[in-house]
Amino acid sequence: MPAIRSHGASSRQKKPPAGFDDIRDDLEVFAIKMKDAQNAPPTAGGGVAAPKHQAQWPIFQIAHQRSRYVYELYYEKEAISRPLYDWLLKNGYADPMLIAKWKKQGYEKLCCLRCIQTKETNFQSTCICRVPKAQLKDEQDVQCVNCGCRGCASSD
Ligand SMILES: [Zn+2]
Ligand SMILES: [Zn+2]
Repeated sequence: MPAIRSHGASSRQKKPPAGFDDIRDDLEVFAIKMKDAQNAPPTAGGGVAAPKHQAQWPIFQIAHQRSRYVYELYYEKEAISRPLYDWLLKNGYADPMLIAKWKKQGYEKLCCLRCIQTKETNFQSTCICRVPKAQLKDEQDVQCVNCGCRGCASSD
């Protein structure tokens, strides 16, 4: 039997499952932050233009926070249902690839997927932010160029 085509104006996006209203405000805050980050000219503070690679940092950081928020709601707080969780992933409220990493041992705090994509870095190893603090030289100040992460090793 062929699928019945819907002609409604709201057919573009399926109605979210129950429970969405409870988190709508939080998601709205993330959406506003993300919009600001995408529109804001990159500055290093004090109105000084930041290096180009830093322009993406807030976007990565907000995407991380939002994915974390959804992840915690479902896996830690058990505050949302599976249908709602799936819906959120499908509609771009969280990054399923990143969440898949968090479930793996050693990647619980991973900042962003870029930092484990070693091919894109100049180094033939994992990003500096993935190195546990204990293995770094004393007082070495870590901040990676991918997303501005200051360290996300699980043992930190
Ligand atoms: Zn990191
Ligand atoms: Zn990194």
